[in-house]
Amino acid sequence: MTKRCSICGKLTKDFAEFPCPECGKPIVRCDQCRKTRNKYVCECGFEGP
Ligand SMILES: [Zn+2]
Ligand SMILES: [Zn+2]
Repeated sequence: MTKRCSICGKLTKDFAEFPCPECGKPIVRCDQCRKTRNKYVCECGFEGP
């Protein structure tokens, strides 16, 4: 199963999915973005590590 990374927009099989601490919307982060510690920004404006 592949999902689109919420940060870089790539389709990936290696991802972590977790709810936004602020609004609860699911955020998908691919392995690449996890390794490079890319920040994610949710639609609600929440920024996470
Ligand atoms: Zn990514
Ligand atoms: Zn959010």
